Amino acid sequence: MSRPVLEVRDICIAFGGLRAVDGVSFSAARHAITTVIGPNGAGKSTLFNMISGALRPLEGQVLIDGVEMTGAAPERVKAAGLSRSFQITNLFFELTVAENLRLAAQVLEPAARALLPIRRSTRARAKTEEMLERFQLAHRRDELAGNLSHGDQRRLEIAVCLASEPKILLLDEPTQGMSHQDTADTASLVRALTADVSVLLIEHDIGLVMELSDHVVVMHQGRKLAEGPPALVRADPEVQAAYFGH
Ligand code: ADP
Ligand code: MG
Repeated sequence: MSRPVLEVRDICIAFGGLRAVDGVSFSAARHAITTVIGPNGAGKSTLFNMISGALRPLEGQVLIDGVEMTGAAPERVKAAGLSRSFQITNLFFELTVAENLRLAAQVLEPAARALLPIRRSTRARAKTEEMLERFQLAHRRDELAGNLSHGDQRRLEIAVCLASEPKILLLDEPTQGMSHQDTADTASLVRALTADVSVLLIEHDIGLVMELSDHVVVMHQGRKLAEGPPALVRADPEVQAAYFGH
């Protein structure tokens, strides 16, 4: 067994008197899709915020690729190989599709190039082209990101996250507000991502969760209720009661 790409150990945080995340542990395997599910307010986004360095946990640990990152600033977590998308769209609407990608890919340039003209940033440029092709955005490369359809914006956002070549990608409800077709497209796209990256996903659409996930972590009221392969988790009586409401 190779070392998990992400390990969360006994992590806790409180807002006032509320234990929003209360002693959660799990790990994410390499090149797999690990999905966190749970009702609204279960603590999923807060968990992501602690993993990505936006919030400092009260207790517990976060390890990325075996390296302790607990409470590290977001830029250090990013440098350690973690990239994330947000529940709300996070693009430069006034820049084009290609420019959004190019900005994100610029981190691939070695520091030694920092004082050289950016138009010679060959790696960033090649990565931009690769992402445009792979995410079927090449025909929209000069369109302003703000003018894209909602589905295309969410797709571009995933491409932007991937342009920095992370080891692990956190996606918080990437299909939220999407049409049926866009949801299906996003599902196959996310599945294809595992060739390069490990994915930690928050997803509401239970059909998609069952179809995509290698491993599911169920949260309820800040705690981990269950975890395991999707079919087993779904059959768990406690999960049925708390999450599926029967
Ligand atoms: P989920 O993503 O599972 O819907 P969240 O992680 O957003 O849940 O929220 C978990 C709980 O923590 C909720 O009760 C929410 O109201 C609360 N919460 C989240 N962020 C904050 C914050 N910054 N300040 C106070 N309470 C918060
Ligand atoms: Mg959330």
